[in-house]
Amino acid sequence: MSAVLGQGGLLTAPDDRAPYESDWRGLVSNPACAVALPKTAAQVSDIVRLCAEHGVAIVPQGGNTGLVAGAVPIAGPEQLILCLNHMNRVREIDTVANTIVAEAGLTLVELQNAAAEAGRFFPVSLGAEGSARIGGLISTNAGGMQVLSYGSMRAQVLGLEVVLADGRIWDGLTALPKDNTGYDLKQLFVGAEGTLGIITAACLRLYPAIAARASTLVGVASPEAALRLFQAARAAAGSGLTLCEYMEEDALALGAAHVAGGALPFVAPSYLLLEISTPDSAHAPSATLEAVLTQALEQGVATDAVIAQSERERLHFIATREAISEGERAEGGAVKHDISVPLGKTPEMVAAVHALVAQKYPDCRPNIFGHVGDGNLHINIRPPVGQTMADLAPRKEAITVDIEALAVSLGGSFSAEHGIGQFRLAGMEAHKSSVALDLMRSIKHALDPANLLNPGKTIPGA
Ligand SMILES: Cc1cc2nc3c(=O)[nH]c(=O)nc-3n(C[C@H](O)[C@H](O)[C@H](O)COP(=O)(O)OP(=O)(O)OC[C@H]3O[C@@H](n4cnc5c(N)ncnc54)[C@H](O)[C@@H]3O)c2cc1C
Repeated sequence: MSAVLGQGGLLTAPDDRAPYESDWRGLVSNPACAVALPKTAAQVSDIVRLCAEHGVAIVPQGGNTGLVAGAVPIAGPEQLILCLNHMNRVREIDTVANTIVAEAGLTLVELQNAAAEAGRFFPVSLGAEGSARIGGLISTNAGGMQVLSYGSMRAQVLGLEVVLADGRIWDGLTALPKDNTGYDLKQLFVGAEGTLGIITAACLRLYPAIAARASTLVGVASPEAALRLFQAARAAAGSGLTLCEYMEEDALALGAAHVAGGALPFVAPSYLLLEISTPDSAHAPSATLEAVLTQALEQGVATDAVIAQSERERLHFIATREAISEGERAEGGAVKHDISVPLGKTPEMVAAVHALVAQKYPDCRPNIFGHVGDGNLHINIRPPVGQTMADLAPRKEAITVDIEALAVSLGGSFSAEHGIGQFRLAGMEAHKSSVALDLMRSIKHALDPANLLNPGKTIPGA
C-alpha cells in the first residue's frame, strides 16, 4: 500500500491514526490497521484490490462529521480507513449545462465557493459544511437547511465515479439530466454510507446565482403557530421560501451562547428562521417577507420578529442556528435523534416528546430544533443539570426507543437525514420491514459479497 500511495499516503503510527479513529461526537473510537490517503481514483482502486486480496475491511471516510459513527471502525475485525480528503479537485464546471464535477474529498464550502466563482449557486448547506466532504455528503444523502426548495444531496447528483468492492472503477460520471438506460445505478450509492462502493467523484447540479434574499427570526408561541407561519410563508413565496428552521428557546440559546456576538434579540417559547430568496434581480423578496410577517403579527401567529438588515445580520442568524449542535456538544452532549414526521404532524410530535419527557424522564432537558419545513426535527435529550452523558447512559437506550417509536407511530422515520451508521441499527431492526431488510441484504451481497465495505454499518447483521 505504501508503494501505491507514495510518501505520507499511508499512516500507521497510532498518533497519526488517532484523529481518524474517533467519531465527531467522541462516542466511538476503535483502532484501524492504517489510514490510507489516496490522491486518485486509480490509487483507490489499487488499495481496494489489495484489501480484497487480503480480506481487509475498508471504512471510507470524508470529513468525519457524520453523527451516527458511520465513518469510523467498528470493534473487531481488521479495518483500513480510506480517507478521500486528498482527492479534492474540481475537475470541471459547465456553465451551459449548470453542472460541476467534483472529487469526493472537496469540502462543501469549497464546492459552494467554486460554484459562486462561476456565477452559480450550490444549495446544500449545513452546520458542518467547512469539514464535510462531497463523498460523505452523498453517502449520507445529507439534507441540511435548503432541502425545502432544492432537495437533499440525492437531488443534486447527476453522475458518480465509484470504486467497487473488487477494485473496478465504475465511470458513471454523466451530466445528463435524462438517461433512462436501465437501472439508475448511481442511486444505489447515494445514502449507502460506503457499504456498496467508494465514491471518488460526482457530477452535481448547479443553479442560477441568488440575486436577493430576505431573512427573519420570528418568535412563535407554539409549534402549531410555527406550522401556520410556515404555511403562510410558503403560500406567499412558493419555492422562493428556501429556509424554514424551527428552534425551541433552549436550543437557540445554546446556539447564541456559542457564536460570536450571539445575544438573542428577543425571547420567545420557540423561533422560526425564515428565508425567501430569488435568482431574479427584478424581484424583491423583502416585500413578500414583510407582508407575511405583518399578517402573522396581526393574527397573533407571531409574537415578535427581527428582519436581517444586512448580509452580516442574515449570516449571523444562520450561524446561530448552525451553532446549536456545537453548543450542545460543548455543554456536555445529548442523546440525539433525527426524526421526520409528515409535516402536519410536527406539532403533535413536539407535544408528544414533551409529554414523554415530563412523564418518564422529568429531570432531562429536551433540546428540539430542526428543518421543520421538511418535517425533520432533531429531538435531543440533554442530561439533567449538573449531570453528564455518563450519568444518563443507563437511560439512553430507553429514551431512543421511545422517541423513535413516537416518530414511527405518527407515520414518520427514525432517521431523516443522518443515516444509520453504527448508532441506528436497532431502529432498523425495530422499524424496517423484513422485506425491506431482505432487499437491502441482497443488494449488499451482490455488490460486496465478502462484506469488506464498511462492515457493521447500515444493515443489521452485515
Ligand atoms: C455541526 C454539525 C451539523 C450537521 N448538520 C447536518 C444537517 O443539517 N444535515 C445533515 O444531513 N447532516 C448534518 N450533519 C451530519 C454530517 O455533516 C453529514 O452527515 C455529512 O454528510 C457527512 O459528511 P462527511 O464528509 O463528514 O462524511 P463522513 O462522516 O466522513 O462519512 C459519513 C458516511 O459516509 C461514508 N463515506 C464518506 N466518504 C465516502 C466516500 N467517498 N465513498 C463512500 N462512502 C463514504 C462513511 O463511511 C460514513 O458512513 C451535521 C454534522 C455536524 C457535526
